[in-house]
Amino acid sequence: MISKIFSWRPWRPGAIIRFFETINFTPGFLENIPGKPFDPMIVLGIDTSCDDTSAAVVADGRSVLSNVVHSQVEVHHVHGGVVPELASREHVRNIMPVVAESLSRARVGMDDLDGVAVTVGPGLVGALLVGLYYVKGLAWARQIPLAPVNHLEGHILSIFLEERAPSFPFVALTVSGGHTSIYHVEDYGRYTPMGQTLDDAAGEAFDKVAKISGLGYPGGVAIERMALRGRGDRIRFPRAYMGRDSLDFSFSGLKTSVALYMKRWRERGAGGDGVTLADVAASFQESVVDVLVQKTVTAAQRMGVKSVVMAGGVACNRRLRERLSQAAGEQAMEVYYPRPGYCTDNGAMIAVAGYHSLLRGERGDMALDVRSRFPIKALMADQGAGSAPEGD
Ligand code: ADP
Ligand code: MG
Repeated sequence: MISKIFSWRPWRPGAIIRFFETINFTPGFLENIPGKPFDPMIVLGIDTSCDDTSAAVVADGRSVLSNVVHSQVEVHHVHGGVVPELASREHVRNIMPVVAESLSRARVGMDDLDGVAVTVGPGLVGALLVGLYYVKGLAWARQIPLAPVNHLEGHILSIFLEERAPSFPFVALTVSGGHTSIYHVEDYGRYTPMGQTLDDAAGEAFDKVAKISGLGYPGGVAIERMALRGRGDRIRFPRAYMGRDSLDFSFSGLKTSVALYMKRWRERGAGGDGVTLADVAASFQESVVDVLVQKTVTAAQRMGVKSVVMAGGVACNRRLRERLSQAAGEQAMEVYYPRPGYCTDNGAMIAVAGYHSLLRGERGDMALDVRSRFPIKALMADQGAGSAPEGD
């Protein structure tokens, strides 16, 4: 308990930095300080975009006081994937206990909250609505500001939950079950899309290949574990580079190629030819990793940046981390990864993004709605940050 208190009390440097950040040096500047001077700004972040109900309490957009994730894997795995209606019902059941647990672990009460942040998209509409309407009620009842957050912005900023974080500008690869995109990140709230998947996301490919191979759902971890025992150079699966200068991705051809291979492999007697399931998993993983690494390093070279961030569920993959660190290291670039718990969906990253949008003075109102598709370029337009290129 003592260490918890020390982790967020006002004498922490983060709190002091925020104090100076928020001062407007004009006569009467004291009126412009939200909350009490030297008091950290406590934000509750909520994510219900897909199949995890998550709530977190974060101080000053940096110190995680709690991060509670209620996974629905048990509910969905029998169906081999996320069933949207079941996800919504589970969120309804879990949101209140998850928030209560996050406040209790953080040792704060509702009265200590300076703001509340919630994912409004992209994601499953019925799932997002549960989080949004919970938060609207909370913000209205407590009269605290509400920050609507783009889930992808949350993934990009999740790196600031770590001690070791980059300075701006950097290139970020967000790679998860629903997204595979590269962004040039100039500041909080300033993201330029550089490339994205044209069909399946990398995590989706992991999940589908695991399903085809009988490894179950969710597939990323199962494939990684299986691949440890196999040889990544055993089968040459296709790599879709989409043209020399493109930073876009495509993983559906690879998925089909693995499915065809598996069909023939089974017909040949599953392993009778000396190729094991572990070899298939490792070879598939290697072809995903090759493309992700090549494009991310190319994007960083093109923008002349020395820092690369990788986030999202697939960023947990150790082979991908190892290969990206090696390739970036050869170009004298630094790579930054959030810990696995901040890579997969979590409320803490939403609190970070919400904290920065609240600092910018942005507020959500009671007319807010959710967006199943919410490209980052739309976020930039909402903020009046100028026109960003096509893509999300
Ligand atoms: P989303 O934001 O798309 O809902 P997450 O950010 O929580 O999802 O990421 C989940 C995805 O990450 C799943 O597709 C899962 O298979 C993938 N994943 C998780 N761990 C690994 C891993 N070790 N290797 C590869 N993929 C992984
Ligand atoms: Mg995610």
